[in-house]
Amino acid sequence: MFRRDTPAEAEFRMEVRTWLEANLPAALRGRTTRPPPSELMPWYHTLSRKGWIAPHWPRQYGGMGATLNEQIVMTEELARVGAPHLPVQGLNHIGPILMEFASDAQKAQHLPPIVEGSVIWCQGYSEPGAGSDLASLSTRATLEGDHFVIKGHKIWTTWAHHSDWMFALVRTDPQAQPRHAGISFLLIDMHSPGITVRPIKTIAGDDEFSEVFFDDVIVPAGNLIGKLHDGWRIANALLGHERLGTSNPQFALMALERIRTMARASGIMADPAFQDRLAAAAINVTVLTALFSHAVELTNSAQSPGPESSIIKIFASELLQALGELAVEAAGGHAPADGPIATDFGEVDVATAFLQARRVTIYGGSSEIQRNVVARRVLNLPN
Ligand SMILES: Cc1cc2nc3c(=O)[nH]c(=O)nc-3n(C[C@H](O)[C@H](O)[C@H](O)COP(=O)(O)OP(=O)(O)OC[C@H]3O[C@@H](n4cnc5c(N)ncnc54)[C@H](O)[C@@H]3O)c2cc1C
Repeated sequence: MFRRDTPAEAEFRMEVRTWLEANLPAALRGRTTRPPPSELMPWYHTLSRKGWIAPHWPRQYGGMGATLNEQIVMTEELARVGAPHLPVQGLNHIGPILMEFASDAQKAQHLPPIVEGSVIWCQGYSEPGAGSDLASLSTRATLEGDHFVIKGHKIWTTWAHHSDWMFALVRTDPQAQPRHAGISFLLIDMHSPGITVRPIKTIAGDDEFSEVFFDDVIVPAGNLIGKLHDGWRIANALLGHERLGTSNPQFALMALERIRTMARASGIMADPAFQDRLAAAAINVTVLTALFSHAVELTNSAQSPGPESSIIKIFASELLQALGELAVEAAGGHAPADGPIATDFGEVDVATAFLQARRVTIYGGSSEIQRNVVARRVLNLPN
């Protein structure tokens, strides 16, 4: 969008476009909520067999080892065809963390199933009493010989009710000061006895996340990533990957397409004032693609994303909400329709996308928290 493909990239783009057109089932296109695993995982497996499930992963771990521009091409082509949201906790969150911090045995155990799509991961960070103030988390892991005993409660855990594994932050030293010095990073088998998962419905009507209760759950000591009590450093590295991954412009590109379709159908496209707002939105989507590309480039050279992941998270999430609002404007009186609106140019789901976008300024750390990070770590402002 903000650069021209080289001849090799143009060829790659055509290959991706043709393959996606031929292989992505029609029922999975243009979905505004993440489809359930029974619908989504066959598509995950198809991408995996093609070798395209993990464009950003090195080949040694089963990834595609794609160049930055190839990753952008994939993003743009996935958006063009309206590809659904994949479960990204394995691919974008824990995968890169295992590559950086895990032992060889842990990598060998956990990385191949992520690429194959034979396991689904969830993230156990937030608790009823610990969200923005994550260091106050209280889920306790007590080391007893060769295993930990876990007692506590996580909440807002995306896809916990579909997951096989959780990467979790647990308190291993309740006396530690500062508090984050007593936290460890553990991998928990979600099929262990003593785990209860209770799904929660979101404002958009999907059961995207859950509460998870741990009642004396036994976890082998070998599931610790890094050193005991050193989980905070790993937790933050993972949040950088999460903020960057969730800022992928695919969803903004798809939202822009929804607005265009809706505006043509409703006739508001002829209004010059609307055209101005649409042009501004399209420019911001291009800016996001450029920002994303730059942030991925910085991450590739430093391994973990720095504070730029907070800047891009603010921009991407607030842009997605603005696009949702512009779609509502484009739909006019049809906007509150429950479900997709039928138009001469195809179906457009305005309301669900609008409601879905409420969450993006909250997960991965709210916009307020990202602004605090930027204030402290980029601008060096006083606390
Ligand atoms: C769709 C969705 C999926 C999620 N998935 C997961 C998941 O898979 N795993 C997981 O662990 N968590 C997940 N979360 C939880 C998410 O990380 C938390 O909701 C988020 O960190 C905010 O915490 P909280 O909800 O406790 O809000 P609080 O921390 O109570 O914040 C409430 C409000 O106060 C503001 N605020 C708080 N502290 C400050 C401050 N110091 N300065 C300025 N403003 C402040 C916040 O910005 C927010 O507006 C998910 C959330 C959503 C919405």
